[in-house]
Amino acid sequence: MKICFASNNAHKLKEIQQLLGPPFEIISLEALGCTEELAEDQDTLEGNALQKAAYVWEKYKVLCFADDTGLEVEALNNEPGVYSARYAGPERDNQANMQKVLDGLKDQDNRRARFRTSIALILEEGEQHLFNGIVEGHIVGAPRGEQGFGYDPIFMPEGKDRTFAEMDSQEKNQISHRGRAVQQLVSFLQHRYVQTGT
Ligand code: IMP
Repeated sequence: MKICFASNNAHKLKEIQQLLGPPFEIISLEALGCTEELAEDQDTLEGNALQKAAYVWEKYKVLCFADDTGLEVEALNNEPGVYSARYAGPERDNQANMQKVLDGLKDQDNRRARFRTSIALILEEGEQHLFNGIVEGHIVGAPRGEQGFGYDPIFMPEGKDRTFAEMDSQEKNQISHRGRAVQQLVSFLQHRYVQTGT
């Protein structure tokens, strides 16, 4: 069963295909013939996810979903949030983004933070569903680890003694915001479309 994931990020497409498994087959925007960058100019993660999924559904009328993720740091009024990709400027520079978070927390005792992913799913007939995945944790004093991407080197999930960038992708997927949101999406799709035989 083909499902469009409204993203051209190869890393995420692969990650989500692994989590989803058969009988679902993820197709990219490119495979649909959609080469433009999708707008995401809403002021919430849910709004952005829905905006991207709705664009694909209106244009291609296929079963599709889109995601948006943000890092919410308590002492920074939940910034960078929906602005996570461009927190330090339009260059989307991961190092500069992390440094801005670390600078903002310099005199703060409260280093609590969470990653949140929203996924918007639109079924072929236009029915909409939203899924949210959250992982709580804290911001460490300086970047640690080489794996992952984005803010992974400064985020340590609750109950662990390593940052996301010190974990392999399988370990991260099991507890991550995106992993949790995708698990909800997967169980929804399986209940809806897969015969359980019971
Ligand atoms: P997106 O909505 O997945 O494109 O994420 C927006 C921004 O949030 C990215 O540019 C990254 O800076 C950050 N981000 C998203 N997911 C992760 C993650 O799993 N680890 C670290 N940073 C992430």
